[in-house]
Amino acid sequence: MSNLSVWDPIAVGHCQQLAVALPGRVATPGTPPYDAFSKHFWSLQESTISPPCVLEPRSSSDVSSMIDALTKTGHECPFAVKGGGHSPYGGYANIHNGVVISMAGLNTMEISDDHSVVKIGSGLTWLPVYEFLDQIGGLAVAGGENGDVGVGGLLVGGGISILGPRVGWSCDNVVNFEVVLSSGQIINANQTHHSDLWKSLKGGTNNFGVVTRYDLATVPQKGGIWAGSLEFSTRSYSDIFRAFVQIADSSEYDPYAFFSLELRFQNTSWSVETVLSYSREVDTVSPPIFQPFLDLDSRANFSSKNTNFTTVANRGSQSPSNQIALSTGTYKINMDLLDFIFSSTDAMVRELSELHNNKLFWQVTFQPLPAAWNNQTRAKGGNSLGTDRIEGNSFVMLVTAMWPDNSLSAVTQSALETMQQIIDYYANSRHLKRDLVYLNYAGEAQSPLLSYGKENVKVLAQTAKKYDPDGVFQRLVPGGFKLSKGRHNLENII
Ligand SMILES: Cc1cc2nc3c(=O)[nH]c(=O)nc-3n(C[C@H](O)[C@H](O)[C@H](O)COP(=O)(O)OP(=O)(O)OC[C@H]3O[C@@H](n4cnc5c(N)ncnc54)[C@H](O)[C@@H]3O)c2cc1C
Repeated sequence: MSNLSVWDPIAVGHCQQLAVALPGRVATPGTPPYDAFSKHFWSLQESTISPPCVLEPRSSSDVSSMIDALTKTGHECPFAVKGGGHSPYGGYANIHNGVVISMAGLNTMEISDDHSVVKIGSGLTWLPVYEFLDQIGGLAVAGGENGDVGVGGLLVGGGISILGPRVGWSCDNVVNFEVVLSSGQIINANQTHHSDLWKSLKGGTNNFGVVTRYDLATVPQKGGIWAGSLEFSTRSYSDIFRAFVQIADSSEYDPYAFFSLELRFQNTSWSVETVLSYSREVDTVSPPIFQPFLDLDSRANFSSKNTNFTTVANRGSQSPSNQIALSTGTYKINMDLLDFIFSSTDAMVRELSELHNNKLFWQVTFQPLPAAWNNQTRAKGGNSLGTDRIEGNSFVMLVTAMWPDNSLSAVTQSALETMQQIIDYYANSRHLKRDLVYLNYAGEAQSPLLSYGKENVKVLAQTAKKYDPDGVFQRLVPGGFKLSKGRHNLENII
């Protein structure tokens, strides 16, 4: 059966009409722009979905015309909104029974006269943003660590950046969102205009409209940054976790430092690496804060001394080749918990890997969330994440599972969910669990929006009703973490 016969005739009709109304903005299967669209995803679940066409706006007024057409009474058509395509779950930024608005053509960048704000088209990935700012010099922004990740999804989901300890969540630094609403109206949401929408978009993802431009506060950056990694040869995981705790739970956390501790299972064994960054020039071999890691047996790669953001974020992009699933939790920093996470995961992953003929990739990442990070939020106008309630230091755990064989997806997903439940149960019973389920790292079965707390969810639901009274972004945009889907049903919350 050809795709044509399984596509929704309404979607096909919209593709044809929009090709006439907006020439050059509609990509159809078998053409180079459509092929490029399909390749720019991270997971197979997303890249293997083939809509009848992809809409490629080049301006916010194009987006407005497209939304007008897709929401006409009697001719409503489901659609997806795609930024950088890094969300792994099928249908989050792609759709089969509908059309995709791919933001890639909204790719302008502009710096304000005083260099305090950079205006970023929402179709960009982070690498060109870093290149643009590095060329100007002396400026940085709180974007993704990997330059291939989209600006679009990261900023409406929160945003963990190597500048986080200095400037908070990436979304805290958005001073203005240009948004197309379901009515087709183009508005600006900031501290003085539509401030409820401004706050809700900081964590509320695609529940309110399509963001066409992010105006992001820049961060003055004197000199270069330091980046490196250590691959541990010690097999004493407790020693590594003790070093993590010593650094991440320090009452005097150095805000220039950020790092990830990555426990990676591949083939038949674990390896442990820490990826380190320091957003200031150093004249020592490594910043002193990382000494507890350096005291352990390891192989160091410190080649990126006093470099720039472009170099650090330039990791290259890869075509999607795996099924991918994620899971996350946020916890107080505690040695026993880290030990428990590893020991409870180890046996399960080994067994699962055998089932996958050793083709399973499994990574557990710990990232610090020092107190200073969450203290930034209130001063910058607030966000929806609810993390301003967190006191003290925390860490975020991200588990990433990748595998090529789709027939093993259900068992792998189920193992991941069970592992998360066990870790959460352990953490809860010892009062180590924080509420936040970070949306950009969340598993499909998790409820990141609910983790923001009842009051914040209520505000999100009210904002959605105010700016999207017909519920277009709930009914017609099914992909992503929705206020009205599954356990997030806003009718139950208001
Ligand atoms: C390799 C890798 C590295 C990562 N590194 C980091 C990191 O350093 N820090 C971090 O916090 N996260 C990181 N992430 C997670 C990342 O933030 C999320 O995957 C994020 O959703 C990616 O955004 P995107 O635009 O690329 O994805 P997409 O899949 O295109 O979009 C994600 C969601 O956002 C919505 N969306 C996208 N653009 C818009 C828009 N303009 N308006 C409204 N809704 C929109 C989409 O509809 C979709 O539901 C990483 C992910 C990967 C795969």
